Amino acid sequence: MMKGVCPNCEKISELEHIITTEELNVKGELIKVKVEYYKCLECGEEFEDPGSKDDPLSKAYREYRRKYGMMQPEEIRDMRKLYGLTQKELSKLIGWGGATLSRYENGALQDDAHDRVLQLIKDPESMYRLIVKNGNFLPEGKKNRLIEELSAAVEEKCSFPNIFQERFGKYEPSIETGYNKLNIDKLFDIIKFFAKDGVFKSKLCKLIFYADFKHFKDYAVSITGSKYAHADHGPVPDNYEHYFATLIHDEKSLRVEEVNFGEYLGEKYYAVIEPELKVFSDSELEVLLQVKKFFKEYNATQIREFSHNERGYNETKVGDIISYEYANDLQIGYK
Ligand SMILES: [Zn+2]
Repeated sequence: MMKGVCPNCEKISELEHIITTEELNVKGELIKVKVEYYKCLECGEEFEDPGSKDDPLSKAYREYRRKYGMMQPEEIRDMRKLYGLTQKELSKLIGWGGATLSRYENGALQDDAHDRVLQLIKDPESMYRLIVKNGNFLPEGKKNRLIEELSAAVEEKCSFPNIFQERFGKYEPSIETGYNKLNIDKLFDIIKFFAKDGVFKSKLCKLIFYADFKHFKDYAVSITGSKYAHADHGPVPDNYEHYFATLIHDEKSLRVEEVNFGEYLGEKYYAVIEPELKVFSDSELEVLLQVKKFFKEYNATQIREFSHNERGYNETKVGDIISYEYANDLQIGYK
């Protein structure tokens, strides 16, 4: 038994946590899922655990997909991102109309024929053939990049993810990466998180730096595995132009607005897509919120000046990588 606020009667009341199994019908098959909910002993109303990520039907779909070896929604999305394709581009390549792919990535149950197509294009060789055959509508640069990378993957029999990592710089975990492997998804989601209500590009670079370094300071490991370099205006993620370009032009999940301040022209980024917060652990999420709050009132100039006082910045030169060793001296304190 626990005490909590009931969303129905809005009183602080005793809530009974009920765990049970339910059988749901998925394509004529009964799938058993564990269901958790709360019951308010004050008014008798039952409601879902607000912290639970999946509703019973989504859970049943996951179970069904597991049973038949079908791809899960996040696997579909990850595969598409790995190829650097937008939903629209991949749909066009495989000849699917409208919102089909987007529905699958968001949890709808795919039909069998569609699942076979998705499984097929996991293989770089099939993807390569598809792009050669149907890929003429793709932007020239993207088409050529994919053909080059996919044919390398086919010839060398190495996996496409390795090649993808190489595109963004292949890092082995070290003190320069905060003892983590580069996780592009997390990095991209952090960018979307900070750019939710619009943020200047130069401030954004520093927010990402502070998130990774703060997490390293508190937990001895970075969030994204990104390296940071000493740039003229402060610490920046290594390769940041490449990351931003991918989000703006390929994923179309960032929108750019140019803002004029007299003689100076600034770029403001807005996230078009909500960040996927599920990818972060509790400690990572906590640090992200902390950093966002700490710098809330700082404009681009103020955060630049603040970052220039970091020891890791002072003791390095333009172009140097800033080691996470300096995280201990970060000017943002322990929680
Ligand atoms: Zn109640």
